[in-house]
Amino acid sequence: MAILLLITGVIARHANAQELRDTSDNSNPPNTPNAPPANNATGSVKPTLPIPSISAFTPTTKLKVARTLLTRSKFPSIDVHCHFGRRLRGDAEALNAFVKTMDRHNIAVCVSLDAVLGSESDHLRFLAPHRDRFVSFAHIDFRGAGQQANPESWACNQAGFIRKTCLQLKAAKTAGICGLKFFKQFGLHLKDSNSNLYAIDDPKWDPIWETCGQLDLPVIMHTADPSAFFDPVTTQNERYEELARHPDWSFHGDAFPGRDELLEARNRVIERHPDTKFIGAHLGGGAEELARVQRWLEQYPNLWIEIASRIGELGRQPFTARKFLIKNQDRVLFGTDGPWPELRLTYYWRFLETHDEYFPYSEKRPQPQGLWHIYGVNLPDKVLEKIYFRNACELIPRLDTVYQNANNSRSN
Ligand SMILES: [Zn+2]
Repeated sequence: MAILLLITGVIARHANAQELRDTSDNSNPPNTPNAPPANNATGSVKPTLPIPSISAFTPTTKLKVARTLLTRSKFPSIDVHCHFGRRLRGDAEALNAFVKTMDRHNIAVCVSLDAVLGSESDHLRFLAPHRDRFVSFAHIDFRGAGQQANPESWACNQAGFIRKTCLQLKAAKTAGICGLKFFKQFGLHLKDSNSNLYAIDDPKWDPIWETCGQLDLPVIMHTADPSAFFDPVTTQNERYEELARHPDWSFHGDAFPGRDELLEARNRVIERHPDTKFIGAHLGGGAEELARVQRWLEQYPNLWIEIASRIGELGRQPFTARKFLIKNQDRVLFGTDGPWPELRLTYYWRFLETHDEYFPYSEKRPQPQGLWHIYGVNLPDKVLEKIYFRNACELIPRLDTVYQNANNSRSN
């Protein structure tokens, strides 16, 4: 009896070892140094493979499902969220090359957000060789010649700053600027002369919102950041891998306002200025909670949103996202936060236009904004047209004409 049990035990242990082997990568045949041992002298199986760092774990999916490799948008599109200043840094050749990328991907026009108010002509001149393909928003240089460490020296804390900014907005509109951009620093880093953070809804800024309304310059605002960036950076945090790579992206702790506080202050600005059009960048900062964004859209008729760098969020909730995008088809704009490598663009087309399952949202490995894959929402043509160009043409001044010119010049 004892002998029988012993033999059975040996067989069972061999079976376990075989299972381990079968689930290991097929490229590692048994007996290669990385293969797990069948058993050791004591008879217990001990894993010897190193546990990889979370950033090194980039598995290739074995899932065999339909893959629709779209390489262009179905309708000529307008990307309303691009950074041709920050990312290209005056490189005209890179801009020329990107226009070719736009042609291949059926992107008619890109909206750069990188002109600096007051010296917007520099960026407009950079884009001018392709004047049918680009328009630009401007952003305010709050610091000016001031020293980073000394908020008292910043331009925004000098007398007359607001009046000067409003005059610059008028001049910029005349020069061809199509809107005003606010980066997330507004609310998270911008400080008054006492080194206290400015609230987004500080009445100090009211003349700027009013002037944008009067001039019909839409305001695109990036407020807060992904929810997880406001949580403790622990292994419970769904963006831990990313935050470990970029610790400065965490806004957890007392040095920063809470995410809700920022979003609510932003909403009060939108509410107080019904004649000014606001575009909430990156799904208005609410990509993880679309029901909440829905309430904002219902509450504020002067709010639009765009999807730049958030297909990773939308595509992991494809059922909810599809309903949301269809319901709000008149209020959603297409954006990417580019210019990006072409592969990244293909993921936007696949997300919006197909029912593909479980594909990456970025060309980077591992996926840079959350370690997951996404699913397409296969939007109807009527909705795609609105998101790709109709809404942007209605909302952003001059864009209608530029878009038509772009399409004419491309078809010639
Ligand atoms: Zn951006």
